[in-house]
Amino acid sequence: MTGELERNSRCPLCGGRLRPGVATIPFLLPDTVVLIKDVPAEICRSCHEPYMTGKVTDRITTLLNQLRAFRVEVSIISYSEARPVPTPTTRVTALATGGAP
Ligand SMILES: [Zn+2]
Repeated sequence: MTGELERNSRCPLCGGRLRPGVATIPFLLPDTVVLIKDVPAEICRSCHEPYMTGKVTDRITTLLNQLRAFRVEVSIISYSEARPVPTPTTRVTALATGGAP
């Protein structure tokens, strides 16, 4: 037995080693599907299951909540490009009113 000081360094599914990388992860929500590319994650070397850190999960949760407001059935975004910016009110207003005159 060697001391297991590492935390979350083993895959809970298969026990394989995890290593840092990026993954493309689909999120299935009740009324939309979001595919996020380039998500920083710890990836299992055996079964390739990606595990996100809490910080990444928080950011993605914010992004998903914003995307749901647009009512798009399928969204494909890049983690590195997507920014939790304030809602673009001008565009939303234009859509809501059926476009500018
Ligand atoms: Zn695994």
